[in-house]
Amino acid sequence: MHEMSYILKMVNMACEIAVENNAKRIKSIEVEIGKTTGVMPYYMYKYYPDAIKGTILEGSELICREVPVKALCEECNNEYLPSRENRYLCPKCGGRKAHIIEGKGVVLKNVTIED
Ligand SMILES: [Zn+2]
Repeated sequence: MHEMSYILKMVNMACEIAVENNAKRIKSIEVEIGKTTGVMPYYMYKYYPDAIKGTILEGSELICREVPVKALCEECNNEYLPSRENRYLCPKCGGRKAHIIEGKGVVLKNVTIED
């Protein structure tokens, strides 16, 4: 289950941010999950309470947002959402060479501090 390592990483980062901002309590953290990661929000939510136990984040809420995969065509610089319908090819030029520019990782997007 790689969700556990992701959630621990997010919790550590959020703890550091909390300390940097002299926060006493954290209300919620927001995490973006790229579709290519295969990370299931279900497990993120499941492991979260254990991961934050005894930390400054205890009692906070986890918000997961799934981010679709976005590609940038190397042939024509068109940004597109690869899908099965277009056989993951660029819909503009039919090119098959593309960079994934979004939806790649698990990113800590927001930490909401309770005041
Ligand atoms: Zn293209």
